[in-house]
Amino acid sequence: REAPRTMPADAHIRRKLEDVNNKININHFDPNYIIYDSTTDTTYLRGRVLGKGGFARCYELLDLNTNKVYAGKIISKTRISKPHQRQKIMREVELQSDLKHKNVVEFHSYFEDNDNVYIVLENCSRKSLVHMLKQRKSLTESEVRYYLKQLVEGVKYIHSRNIIHRDLKLGNMLLNEKMELKIADFGLATRIGYEGEKKMTVCGTPNYIAPEVLQKRGHSYEADVWALGCVTYALLVGRPPFETSTLKETYVRITNNNYTLPQTMSASAQKFIQKCLNNEPDLRPTLDQLLQEDFFTAGFIPKSLSPSCCSTAPKFP
Ligand code: ADP
Repeated sequence: REAPRTMPADAHIRRKLEDVNNKININHFDPNYIIYDSTTDTTYLRGRVLGKGGFARCYELLDLNTNKVYAGKIISKTRISKPHQRQKIMREVELQSDLKHKNVVEFHSYFEDNDNVYIVLENCSRKSLVHMLKQRKSLTESEVRYYLKQLVEGVKYIHSRNIIHRDLKLGNMLLNEKMELKIADFGLATRIGYEGEKKMTVCGTPNYIAPEVLQKRGHSYEADVWALGCVTYALLVGRPPFETSTLKETYVRITNNNYTLPQTMSASAQKFIQKCLNNEPDLRPTLDQLLQEDFFTAGFIPKSLSPSCCSTAPKFP
C-alpha cells in the first residue's frame, strides 16, 4: 500500500523557494500560499491573479518540483454545491485532457483539497484577444490572418477529436509569452457521438451564438465556423457583427442575418466573413476551405508577432 502523503513542512518549502529563486524571478509567488496535490505529491505556490471567470479564479502556480509556472483555475467548492455544476467542470476536464495541440491550452492536471477544485493548465501569460482589442480598438488584416490561421488550426484539431467548442470568442483566445494563440475554456464544449449527430441544446449561452443553436434546429461543427466569422469581424472592426444594446435585439439580428460590413474592409476579408456567417450551416465552408480563401492565400501572414502588438499596431498593413 502507498504511504499516506502529507503536506511538506514549511521549512522545506522555504528551502525549495530559495533554490528556485536563483533560477527564475519568483517575487510574485507567496511562500505562505501553498497548494498541495496529494495525488501526485506536487507542491505549488500561488502567484498573481490571471483572470476571473464565471466559476473560477485563475492564478499563476509555481510547481516546486519542476520550477515550471502554470495557470491554475481555482474553483471554490462553495460555488459548485449543485451536482450539475460539478458535472460541468468534470466534463470540461474530461474533454480538455484528451486534447494536445500547439493551438489549444494544454491540460496539466486536476485535483481537489478540502476547499477547492484545481485545474492546472498551460500558462498563457499575455492574456486574451479581448485585452488586446481593448488596447488596440481594431487589428490590421495581417495580424488577423496571423491569429486566425492558428485559430483555424486549433479548431480543426478539436473537430478531428469529435469535439465542438461552442464558445469561440475573443476572451477564450489566449496568448502565451511568444504570442502564440491557444484556445481555452471547454466549459460549453461537447462531444459528437456519431457522424451526423445534431445537438439540440447548449447548457449556457455561447457568446457568438449561431442561428441554428439559437433556434434549436439542431447544431454541430458548423456552429464553430459561424463563431470564427464573428471573431474575424470583431478583430477587424472592433465590435461583434450583431451587437446591439439588448440581447433580444441581437437575437433578432442573428435570426435575420442582419449585419453590415464596413466599406473600408478589404474584399477578401468581406468574402471570408460572409461565408462563415451563412445562415444555413450546411452552406458554410469547412475549415480546410477557409484556409484556401483569398483572405489567407493572397495576403501577408506574419511568421511571428512582437509582444508590442498587444498595445501598438505593427508597421506592416
Ligand atoms: P470560467 O470557466 O470560470 O469562466 P475561464 O476559463 O474563463 O473561467 O478563466 C477565467 C479567466 O482566467 C480568463 O478570462 C483568462 O483571463 C484567465 N485564464 C484562463 N485560463 C488561463 C490560462 N491557461 N493562462 C492564463 N490565463 C488564463
